[in-house]
Amino acid sequence: MSYQERYAASLMNTFGPPKLVLARGEGAHVWDTEGREYVDLLGGIAVNALGHAHPALVAAVTGQLETLGHISNFFTSGPQVELAERLLALLAAPAPGKVFFTNSGTEANEAAFKLTRRTGRTHVVVAEGAFHGRTMGALALTSKEAYRAPFEPLPGHVTFVPYGDATALTEAVTDETAAILLEPIQGEAGVNVAPDGYLAAARAAADEHGALLWLDEIQSGMGRTGAWFAHAASGVVPDIVTLAKGLGGGFPIGAVIGLGAAADLLEPGNHGTTFGGNPVACAAALAVIATIEGEELLEHVTVLGQKIRDGLAADPRVTEVRGEGLLIGLDLVSDSSAAVAAAALEAGFIVNNATPCRIRLAPPLVLTQDDAAAFLAAWPGILDAAGVS
Ligand SMILES: *Cc1c(COP(=O)(O)O)cnc(C)c1O
Repeated sequence: MSYQERYAASLMNTFGPPKLVLARGEGAHVWDTEGREYVDLLGGIAVNALGHAHPALVAAVTGQLETLGHISNFFTSGPQVELAERLLALLAAPAPGKVFFTNSGTEANEAAFKLTRRTGRTHVVVAEGAFHGRTMGALALTSKEAYRAPFEPLPGHVTFVPYGDATALTEAVTDETAAILLEPIQGEAGVNVAPDGYLAAARAAADEHGALLWLDEIQSGMGRTGAWFAHAASGVVPDIVTLAKGLGGGFPIGAVIGLGAAADLLEPGNHGTTFGGNPVACAAALAVIATIEGEELLEHVTVLGQKIRDGLAADPRVTEVRGEGLLIGLDLVSDSSAAVAAAALEAGFIVNNATPCRIRLAPPLVLTQDDAAAFLAAWPGILDAAGVS
């Protein structure tokens, strides 16, 4: 029996049938069990920042595991403290901050959601199209009806407003609002970039009503947009930032960062985790940060991202290209993204059909010029093969 058949018999059917059975990877390339090679333009959904099997990540994880693997949060370790300090330094926020580590994005948002309750308020304002995770709390903050409906009732007192509409956002915030939660760039929605001034308007509304501004940078953070954080260019200082995905470069880790008063809202006994902040995960994240700096990947991501967006937009069957750095979304003339993703796979490229008419790319930050050029050269043929006209 094939792995696909054994998968169907032994794994819960939450994801639908897997598209490939992958065997190994190197850089931005992966190989399936038949030996077929693919250029990975999705990077494990914006996770594999250093691509696959990067020697620095392998060395950090294996070296830490050989030295000290898991210790629980009754204890701390050098990597844990160093990573917290590195993240706070990368944020370069004027306010002092503190970090809580988790193992995933949804756990980071879950912890942050609990943190907002410590204000004594419960109301949260969130954007339509937002994705914040699948656990019950994070799901309450996620807008997609199909994800929510089977699990209601979810934690309440959540108001959804159209993403990018500063007026609607400002009007939704009241003196009962604990937090405004936004992705600086919406990822799962197919890459929606916050319009200029939007985050500043959110900051102003939060300040006016004494609410927290919480930015979910789980997908957009850690260099993906060519900056350490997608919100950096706005100059806005949030109260809470949540991270995961690219943070560990493929090793599971998430983080909640509280700045200013938000740094101390969670008190002893308020929250916990067995695995979160373990030395191996923290060593992995430190290696990701050191490699992004050492290989000057932020500059690379900025330049290569622009090149890819320009190349994609050159085809008239693409109606819009959005994004920053290597978080890229494009709209097709017709609802053909599933066919386009299938045709791309057939041509040896992994892309994601985020919505019926939208393709998302979130390749490793180490994607080479050659791989990008090969994809752009193949792109018109992929659209032909998918019957997009
Ligand atoms: C992926 C994602 C999450 C959830 O992260 P998981 O690790 O899958 O739980 C939350 N927020 C955003 C913006 C994401 O892209």
